[in-house]
Amino acid sequence: MNIHFKNIYCILPCAKTCGTGRSYEVKETNIYVTNDIISGIGTAPDGFIADRTVQGKNKILSVGLVNAHNHAYMSVFRNSADDVLFEEWLFKRILPLEDKLVDEDIYWGTQLSCLEMLKSGTTTFLDMHITKNIVPKAVEDVGMRAVISKGIVGEGTAEYGLTRLADAKEEINNFKNSKLVSFMLAPHAIYTCDSEYLKIVTEEAKKLNVPIHTHLAESPVELKDALEKYGKTPVEYLADLGVFDVKTICAHCVQLNDNDIDIFKKYNVSVAANPVSNLKLANGIAPIKKMLDKGINVAIGTDGPASNNGQNMFREMNFHALLHKGVNHDAEAVSALETYKCATENGAKALALDNCGVLEVGKKADLFVMDINQPQFYPRNNLMSALCYSARGTEIDMVLVDGKILIEDGKSTTLDEEKIYYNASKVIERITK
Ligand SMILES: [Zn+2]
Repeated sequence: MNIHFKNIYCILPCAKTCGTGRSYEVKETNIYVTNDIISGIGTAPDGFIADRTVQGKNKILSVGLVNAHNHAYMSVFRNSADDVLFEEWLFKRILPLEDKLVDEDIYWGTQLSCLEMLKSGTTTFLDMHITKNIVPKAVEDVGMRAVISKGIVGEGTAEYGLTRLADAKEEINNFKNSKLVSFMLAPHAIYTCDSEYLKIVTEEAKKLNVPIHTHLAESPVELKDALEKYGKTPVEYLADLGVFDVKTICAHCVQLNDNDIDIFKKYNVSVAANPVSNLKLANGIAPIKKMLDKGINVAIGTDGPASNNGQNMFREMNFHALLHKGVNHDAEAVSALETYKCATENGAKALALDNCGVLEVGKKADLFVMDINQPQFYPRNNLMSALCYSARGTEIDMVLVDGKILIEDGKSTTLDEEKIYYNASKVIERITK
């Protein structure tokens, strides 16, 4: 389908720079979509005939947000383990529930998350899950873009770890022709994978030519244990094992020293900032300003809905921009522009997706349109600031992924929303009985 977005405010990359590189400007213009591609900005491509024209009055158009760290299936645990520290949350509350999940539960939990993300402007996410084939199937059924990784744990060549790795490889192979999903390998963390197993996974990632997605330096306990056990920080430990020889994205990265940040720079490691999850699990605040100052590719993720407890990237952007001003006593620490970049372009880069994340001709038509005829958008002094500091995510009107309209008038065009709510609710009722 050819779509013309007429006279609409757009967030466009521009020649100016901000913090870590190119900047953006808000400009009223025309956007043309031909099938799955952004085919024109300002002027229509030759021979363009619109099947549909969207009037842009009182609307903003942007590339979709990229949620750079999530566990979508965990929406079924939302608000079921709150106000506890990380170790109790994971080992005593979440993992025992997780053991009771069956494939169908993972499917509905993932679809519930996809619905929540789409309705708040996210078009792409990086997921870490616990099963095989179910999450990519659920995502393809929704029509979202995702980079998927089965979370794997293991000790050396012990059978349970190798089986999980084989399952991850099988999933990658089963979906190798997918238009919407791609893959990473995801050793869960340094406290659930031993050094030999991490080396095995790294070698597999090289063979498969896929990046690595892991949790790193999340809690004070993880840092303390690594220093005691290896005499190294978690970052030094992974670097010395050779993990960062593969393109890597690390979630959380709260407990870092300056040398750790230098290591990230040296190996081009991307970081998924998870401000809300880190606060909620009392893990602390990541040194994001220092990382951005060093030129680290910082993206933003919600983490799973069991530790956030939402998947609204506008809320995450708001925390991301505000937190680092507060802790650094520096109002310019992370600007609205820089935050927008972290949530879009940097996210796509971290996910190794070079076909989306920026509003440019030739990129995939992964877009959101937001209705700004709302009190929080008046007066219109600075729409970039408004996206970061005033938007709630509920103003999303339309969402396209791969050129297909998945959300219109704020509602899913493809999913039975009530069926998803019903099925996801049944899961937690059953497993907590
Ligand atoms: Zn996580």
